[in-house]
Amino acid sequence: MNSAAPFKLSGTAHTTDVGAMLDQMCEHFVEHAEVQRQGRHAFFTSRSGTASLRAEGRRILIDLASPSQHALQASRNVIAEHMFFFAGDEPFDLHWATDSQPGILTNLHHVTVVGTEKVTPLMLRVKFSCADVSPFIGGDMHVRLLVPPAGRQPVWPTLGADGRVAWPGGDDTLLVRAYTIRKVDVGRGELWIDFFQHPEPGILTPGADFARDAPPGMEVALLGPGSGHLPQARRIFLAGDESALPAIARIAEEVPAGTELRVLIEVADENEEQRLAGAGSLDIRWLHRNSHSGNSGTVLSEEIMIMIETLDEDWFVWVACEKQDVRAVRNLLRKRGHDRRNMYVAWYWEHA
Ligand SMILES: Cc1cc2nc3c(=O)[nH]c(=O)nc-3n(C[C@H](O)[C@H](O)[C@H](O)COP(=O)(O)OP(=O)(O)OC[C@H]3O[C@@H](n4cnc5c(N)ncnc54)[C@H](O)[C@@H]3O)c2cc1C
Repeated sequence: MNSAAPFKLSGTAHTTDVGAMLDQMCEHFVEHAEVQRQGRHAFFTSRSGTASLRAEGRRILIDLASPSQHALQASRNVIAEHMFFFAGDEPFDLHWATDSQPGILTNLHHVTVVGTEKVTPLMLRVKFSCADVSPFIGGDMHVRLLVPPAGRQPVWPTLGADGRVAWPGGDDTLLVRAYTIRKVDVGRGELWIDFFQHPEPGILTPGADFARDAPPGMEVALLGPGSGHLPQARRIFLAGDESALPAIARIAEEVPAGTELRVLIEVADENEEQRLAGAGSLDIRWLHRNSHSGNSGTVLSEEIMIMIETLDEDWFVWVACEKQDVRAVRNLLRKRGHDRRNMYVAWYWEHA
């Protein structure tokens, strides 16, 4: 955060263990922001601005400063959602000095299905028209897709007084799933999302099914973008499965010339491979899940870890796949002492 950031907001959180809260916030945000910690004061700097969290007794005094009203709301939302999450079942409350009335989420975008096309046998692309695609250009690439219940007038979430998203409930409960904006088509005013079809007999897959069934003209919403920005590094190792393939493809397309990319992707078989292109130098290896023998579930994480062992410290490590695989990769990176500012390791889905 810099002092020139003109949009400011203060808040106060009350919690029983302020030290634990600061610890968890610092531990979590080190991969998403520049984090400075001096005893009972934590200071975060990111593209949304700055956040100062200062512990005083059982209170944490929060001061946010951002370059725009939109960024300030995003920053408040991120701080609020995480503090409530880390508080868990402990008593916790959070008040903001101003703007405390529930309001409109400035990052809620109403979009309309234009059409669907097959990228590969198991990857379906849905194209959405969006009145203003500018917030999706050149920044974060992740969104939450919000699909209203069939046959009901949609009730969209609002901004709650505590800074969190206030979700509709009961019969108005929305389907919410995280996805990656694969491409922003500025000329057509379209956003593309690639949905991996992962059918398992007898198991509902509402996100994947939405892509399969969405008729042109259907109205849904996207919340974001938030998280998942282009790694700022000359050498990047990208690894993941089909759920990460849209993000990997987009990163490959957007890195500047001169970037060295090593890529490892697991898909079902060769029919699921996609052509990745971009200005960087690309060294891609595809793993075919259907050809693995033995304990095929661990092949991707094992291969990722073998690759990581060959990389110097200056490589940015970007990994997204199933939760247990991510855990194994994180443990290895921690053991190696890999700089956490030089990695993005996220689970994109979880075995039921
Ligand atoms: C930041 C982020 C970005 C993402 N981007 C994309 C994207 O661009 N495209 C994309 O397809 N996915 C993406 N994902 C993953 C996607 O959100 C999950 O796969 C989600 O669980 C799909 O919802 P669903 O309703 O189809 O299945 P769910 O209802 O969540 O799960 C139903 C069953 O399917 C299994 N399952 C879920 N996902 C997968 C999978 N990928 N492979 C195998 N089995 C699975 C679950 O274990 C469960 O048994 C992203 C996730 C995150 C966190």
